[in-house]
Amino acid sequence: MADSKAYVKRVLAQIEKRDPDQKQFLATVTKVLESVEPLLDQHPEYEQNKILERMVEPERVIEFRVPWTDDKGEIQINRGYRVQLNSAIGPYKGGLRFHPSVNLDILKFLAFEQVYKNALTGLPIGGAKGGSDFDPHGKSDAEVMRFCQSFMTELFRHIGPNVDVPAGDIGVGGREVGYLFGQYKRLRNSYDAGVLTGKRVDYWGSLARTEATGYGLMYFVKDMLDAKGIDLKDKVVVVSGAGNVATYAIEKAQSYGAKVVTCSDSNGYVYDPNGIDLDCVKEIKQVKRGRIKEYVETHPQAEYHEGCTGVWTVKCDVALPCATQREIDLESAKALVANGVKAVGEGANMPSTLEAIDYFQSHGVLFGPAKAANAGGVATSALEMAQNSERLQWTFEEVDGKLHGIMTNIYKQAKANAEKYADPDDLVAGANITAFQKVANVMLAHGLV
Ligand code: NDP
Repeated sequence: MADSKAYVKRVLAQIEKRDPDQKQFLATVTKVLESVEPLLDQHPEYEQNKILERMVEPERVIEFRVPWTDDKGEIQINRGYRVQLNSAIGPYKGGLRFHPSVNLDILKFLAFEQVYKNALTGLPIGGAKGGSDFDPHGKSDAEVMRFCQSFMTELFRHIGPNVDVPAGDIGVGGREVGYLFGQYKRLRNSYDAGVLTGKRVDYWGSLARTEATGYGLMYFVKDMLDAKGIDLKDKVVVVSGAGNVATYAIEKAQSYGAKVVTCSDSNGYVYDPNGIDLDCVKEIKQVKRGRIKEYVETHPQAEYHEGCTGVWTVKCDVALPCATQREIDLESAKALVANGVKAVGEGANMPSTLEAIDYFQSHGVLFGPAKAANAGGVATSALEMAQNSERLQWTFEEVDGKLHGIMTNIYKQAKANAEKYADPDDLVAGANITAFQKVANVMLAHGLV
């Protein structure tokens, strides 16, 4: 039998030596590789073919200058990136993030996660991630447009419907995708609708894409709870974030009869003991692009608290981190467990630290890891690509039905592999093993590339 522990350790040491500053990338890779050790034990061909060494090295990293002019006529320079990590099972696919925190470490960890998330969907898409340290907050529409046009003026030569298909992520929504698509079309002089996903439905976008990540998260969480005989009805749910993922997770949770009592933005969180009024949140965040604290102006029974971590001290049955990475640390995990949380479903990417995940799992909390639980977004993006190829638009119900089927399938496969290789409730290991096996086998089939 292969010594998989030693193999994994060697690969991790090599990453640390090569890129000592890329702590989040290393943490993500560590979790994935350690959880696939039982599989590596049974498949010495992975080590013989240096599959791990190849998987942790992006196929290509593009870093570029993004010059643009603000409304005062001043020149601004941002940094743009695209990490094309793995194209074994299809064209690179993954979002673009515009946020001041963006750097290569974050994008490499997100791209790495994306490869396995995409594999879990069962659809033919590889993994990538990109973005910029540009901050869209407080910028005018015209500034955002000029930035997007400059960003695409470099990115366009590296993407295409059969090459790499970016989408939105934090700070990149329908408006930004529109500006990016417009510039791509102008530069290529070709209507390659499938080059970007997350397009508006009036120009080749998919119905239900907006809702997909949040809805998909709830389909997954419901399957996880159903398996334990826990009904979501009347369960208290704590959600962080008030963006795309959070909004539609709240909507679906409420449709199951759950009582969602919080949401947040990067300044603070709102607690409404009567249950969050989602129309109000949509009005504030989607229409007015305002701050979540405005909620209490029309809901006097609700409380607004400055700062984000306090949201995890609110007593709940189900916690759904839907804002950003590393928002639940060990301390927050302890507070949730002390308050009796039964399940955690990750809507955001890597919102729980490794220590927090270990704490949840060792305290019997059902845990739905991001790469499985939030895969509904990218799955529906792949359905958007399929519709674009067909030059057809499916109905909302058709897309939502396929999304539901994909999420249930992800849950079933992760659960089956958890039962086969790890603790039967360890969906982190189950999801990693399912996805890893698929990507590794296709890489073997393609030979040394
Ligand atoms: P949005 O930009 O629509 O919303 C992000 C939300 O999180 C906003 O409410 C934002 O507040 C808040 N937020 C941002 N940074 C912080 C922070 N440091 N602390 C607390 N809150 C913060 O993004 P999405 O909803 O699209 O994405 C959220 C997460 O889900 C990300 O991790 C993303 O990678 C992941 N994801 C998204 C998918 C999608 O389809 N959209 C698919 C899969 C994963 P503010 O308004 O103040 O910025």
